[in-house]
Amino acid sequence: MKAIKPFGPRNLKMVEVSDPEPASDEVLIKIKASGICGSDMWVWRVDEAVDEIGGHEIGGKIIEVGSDVKNLEVGDRVAVNNVVGCGSCKYCRTGRFVLCSSRPGSDVNGGFGELVTAPARNCLPLKEGVSYEDGALIFDNWGTPYAALERVGASEKDDIIVFGCGPIGLAAVALARRRNAFVIGVDPVPERRQEALKAGAGTVLDPREVDIEKQVKEITGGRGADIAVECSGKGVSYENGFKALRVKGTFIAVGENARYELKPSQLLIRKNLNLIGSWYSTMREGLEVQDLIKAEKIDPTRFVTHRIDLEDVPDLFEDIFNYNQGIIKVLIKM
Ligand SMILES: [Zn+2]
Ligand SMILES: [Zn+2]
Repeated sequence: MKAIKPFGPRNLKMVEVSDPEPASDEVLIKIKASGICGSDMWVWRVDEAVDEIGGHEIGGKIIEVGSDVKNLEVGDRVAVNNVVGCGSCKYCRTGRFVLCSSRPGSDVNGGFGELVTAPARNCLPLKEGVSYEDGALIFDNWGTPYAALERVGASEKDDIIVFGCGPIGLAAVALARRRNAFVIGVDPVPERRQEALKAGAGTVLDPREVDIEKQVKEITGGRGADIAVECSGKGVSYENGFKALRVKGTFIAVGENARYELKPSQLLIRKNLNLIGSWYSTMREGLEVQDLIKAEKIDPTRFVTHRIDLEDVPDLFEDIFNYNQGIIKVLIKM
């Protein structure tokens, strides 16, 4: 099959590799749609060639099933939950691979290839009318913010700041609006702020231009926001978020790779803040996102600005991560 592999810093190439073979509890999937995510940036930053394929937002058709697979068949259309887990602990047995302690961080990678194997338990069958593109966006792009907002029970009582209006942040804006919260979108990129407004943000702020704490306090009648959802992966969003939250407010960390030196006394302890991490989504949350799609309550592809072929990935990769050409979300079509 064809796949995009990293050969060193900023060096991706499309190469021919041998087809993956499913283990007894796995299925082989012909990928039809594959998302490019902020956390795929690692393929651009490797020091030398690595024998791994990036991409973890996968919608596709099953073309082979392992000998022990009972609940799926060849021809089934599926979305793949990219967190693998051990498969046998109490969390994994109930589809909560994100909570597995024995293999934390293990992912289904391989979305930047024509075929991928995945454990059968990670596959969510797509309902009629839910497309492969929708499927590719269920577990991460929409499932991640869905799970984060579920976790804190966000509601119409809440003023929510969303830091970072990329694909995940924008989905967070749309999902927070579905819960009738008031949303403040924060992003330095004008096109993304515009998109946040379209997705339902009540107001948007440029963190390079304004004092976020001051503005948020003004908007919330001096109180501060109830919830901050951090999707930017930038340390400064932590500082801004802690300052702009109300007493006993909740900060949810979602965006990866931020670095931030926390001064707990001033910003956390004396404000009685809640600090929460939220990583991807469970099978159940994926199913609930699919139900929202099926009921046309959300359109997961609304932030997809570019659809590209697999062979275009190496050339476009830099633009994708520099937000060039108005890029918000990119899907690979196969
Ligand atoms: Zn991702
Ligand atoms: Zn487990």
